[in-house]
Amino acid sequence: MRYPDLRKRVTAVARKAYDRGLVAATSGNYSQFDREAGLMVITPSGLDYGLMAPEDLVVLDLAGHVVEGDLPPSSEWRLHAHLYKMRRDIGGVAHTHSPYATAFATLDRPIPNLLIELQMFCGGAVNVAPFALPGSEELGEGAARTIGDRKAVLLSHHGAVAVGESVEDALKVAFWVEDAARIAHLALTIGQPRELEEVSKDLPAEY
Ligand SMILES: [Zn+2]
Repeated sequence: MRYPDLRKRVTAVARKAYDRGLVAATSGNYSQFDREAGLMVITPSGLDYGLMAPEDLVVLDLAGHVVEGDLPPSSEWRLHAHLYKMRRDIGGVAHTHSPYATAFATLDRPIPNLLIELQMFCGGAVNVAPFALPGSEELGEGAARTIGDRKAVLLSHHGAVAVGESVEDALKVAFWVEDAARIAHLALTIGQPRELEEVSKDLPAEY
């Protein structure tokens, strides 16, 4: 079987995301890309995370041809493929429905750049890609276009997508995004927080 280690790593990431409440039921999907071979290892469609084993993962190319796997790949494989095609620095993708981030997505509202970690690890505010049906080419195209050079993007009325050099990095970004969304939600209930771009204007010139 190809990619025994990658299969284990992607499975571990999927379980961790589930255990930490970033997804409900069988939603969410995770992959790692082998750029040299042009193949991704992705979680299968609709399988319970408690039952998922490394051998259930699916190996496919960016055109969707399954190279290895008995189960169908995640229906969001196109989303992953668009991101790998668009940016050469992306080696892992984590798509979650984490609740606070997804709440911003349901409002078509970016997660504002309030927390220094969001600036440092994700590149700033998390913007919202236009609504498209799950699994569609349009969804993948819109996400790849909207993410730009940042590490995360929201999918309108759907969820969040985080990227990194590896699937573990992508999961870390997914946690930062959810944390930033939760804190932004709290801040917005208390007052009108200023985004970091605004705050940094007040810094003395030597900064
Ligand atoms: Zn989804």
